Amino acid sequence: MTVTRKPVVEVRRSQRRRRTVSAYRDGERVVVLIPDQFSRAEESEWVDRMLARLAAREGRLARSDAELLARATRLIDLYLTEYGSAAAPASVRWVTNQNGRWGSCTPADRTIRISHRVQDMPDWVIDYVLLHELAHLIVPSHNAEFWALVARYPRSERARGYLEGVAATAAIP
Ligand SMILES: [Zn+2]
Repeated sequence: MTVTRKPVVEVRRSQRRRRTVSAYRDGERVVVLIPDQFSRAEESEWVDRMLARLAAREGRLARSDAELLARATRLIDLYLTEYGSAAAPASVRWVTNQNGRWGSCTPADRTIRISHRVQDMPDWVIDYVLLHELAHLIVPSHNAEFWALVARYPRSERARGYLEGVAATAAIP
């Protein structure tokens, strides 16, 4: 995770709040809402905790290539385990130059590229796109053997429906 400078924090106390604390980013500032009854110690403890939580949430959105490779390794373990290194990519990368496809794979050099358009989609959709490309390392074409591999992932159908819906809206083939 990247280390960013400490943000300006504005603490707002509310008499209506009992125990709940929430935080959100407002431009350069982070606003933390706490119950009015909190002591100074509780306030500083909760500010630290909420800043860490916000950073984790934002870090999760900035998905890295390293995370993508870890995800691929886990998917191979779960669904393509008997293929071992035959299913292992030489590299998996996020790319921004791939607007017509969600992912692509070059079996000759075992590289996989995933479109940045997938980056903000739910985890289970990212997993589908990735598993689809991993399966191409084993079976390059879209034949019955290929779809049988993809179908090992329980949410394949749902993920394809999700992607079709997004494509229809965005007019991506
Ligand atoms: Zn394909």
